Amino acid sequence: MELTFQLEEGETYTEPVPSRDRRNAILVYEATEGGAGVLSRVIQEPDKLAEVARAALELMHYENLDAAIAAQDIGQLTTDPDARCVKGCYRCLLSYYNQPDHECIDRTDPDACRLLLKLAASTVHTEERRQAPPNGLEPWVEAIDAWGLAKPSDKPLSIDGVILPLAWREHRVVAVPDNVSSEVIAKLESMAFTVFTLPKEMPSQPPAQLAKLLGDLE
Ligand SMILES: [Zn+2]
Repeated sequence: MELTFQLEEGETYTEPVPSRDRRNAILVYEATEGGAGVLSRVIQEPDKLAEVARAALELMHYENLDAAIAAQDIGQLTTDPDARCVKGCYRCLLSYYNQPDHECIDRTDPDACRLLLKLAASTVHTEERRQAPPNGLEPWVEAIDAWGLAKPSDKPLSIDGVILPLAWREHRVVAVPDNVSSEVIAKLESMAFTVFTLPKEMPSQPPAQLAKLLGDLE
């Protein structure tokens, strides 16, 4: 980051999440008030993240980057012969800010190098928002997600031109608005779906019957 964006050290911070002992992801945030805007550039400029990763490898005293990135092969990374650096030094990864992590820092860690090679060959795309389902079921899609119920199948069911986005194919369950015709319901049942009719009012808790229908495979 510092090399690519000319930041002062300490302008962006990173933290392991969810905790120091369980490092599932890295949270990166801007520490200065208002922020220098670099993180939004990483999202908006498709090649920026690759540049940052490449600069990181360079900083870690690696050479032969073009070939290693093209081949996605950490075996092709060579170390600058003048580096005099084993796992990390104050010219590469060690700093006052990451002192608590010094004993975990290892610039030769294969997983770290592999990840940086991948990022160095990546481009950033922002994901399109999922299309709003018809029938005004959007609030239900959000509520089902918020309640932590199983995620509906990606592809909605379509019966006689009626689009039903709340379908769980593996569970053979479909949730339908209360104005769906009895013919559609009969068809769904003939396809071995259990049909759950959504109440008119959105409840604050997940409907018990629906939760039960979706619980079996969890
Ligand atoms: Zn070093």
